[in-house]
Amino acid sequence: MNDPMTPISVDEPFQFCCSPGVPCFNACCRDLNQFLYPYDILRLKHHLGVSSTRFLERYATVHVGPESGLPIVSLTADYTDKFKCPFVSPEGCRVYRDRPAACRMYPLARALSRNRETGELTEHFALLKEPHCCGFDQDGSQTVEEWVEDQDLADYNRMNDRMLEIISIKNQRHPAVLDIKSQYLFRLALYDLDEFRDQVFEKGILADMKLDPDQFEAARTDDVALLELGMLFIKKELFGETE
Ligand code: SF4
Ligand code: SF4
Repeated sequence: MNDPMTPISVDEPFQFCCSPGVPCFNACCRDLNQFLYPYDILRLKHHLGVSSTRFLERYATVHVGPESGLPIVSLTADYTDKFKCPFVSPEGCRVYRDRPAACRMYPLARALSRNRETGELTEHFALLKEPHCCGFDQDGSQTVEEWVEDQDLADYNRMNDRMLEIISIKNQRHPAVLDIKSQYLFRLALYDLDEFRDQVFEKGILADMKLDPDQFEAARTDDVALLELGMLFIKKELFGETE
């Protein structure tokens, strides 16, 4: 069987176009196994006008990785109807403007590697050719770089890379399963931002941390600043990062 993943470089063109006119329209929004990054949730909850707590209850499933103890959040698929995404409609994606990073990136996949000596990060891409996807038969060609820009992925990649850095630090410094309290804090500070804001500003959960006052104040009203604060908190408090 052919491997559907083909490595591709950033300046390499690929033929692909997706539009409501393709015969497979919405096919990729079924059989869902969609993991969500914290920044995906931030964008989706804004789009839907709900709190992060409500979003997690209504649209997400959280389970704990048995070997890492890290909470893993995924979109809850409709098991009564082909495991479709809760946001798909006959007209297409109901949250298109704020759809998750993986939906934007498709049919590409992106990974990062770090140079052990310099710490420099390098992006790697692969083209995922799935048999059900007719997008590869349509007119339209772009390079990987153009695709990333067209799909407005810069903010997603920036925030998601920071999340991958946290997981890498966790794996290096704390390879064992997280304890229950750490699991709770990880989920709170990264995925349930509105509850985290209450804990920060009403219950003083960060009172012992030395924080930049401007960053702290920005987090009162700005969810991205709050998520950045949450990431800092997890790196320092859970995994002992000093920078
Ligand atoms: S979020 Fe939108 S694009 Fe992504 S799987 Fe759901 S309906 Fe499809
Ligand atoms: S062309 Fe591919 S990406 Fe577009 S709807 Fe069909 S399966 Fe999904």
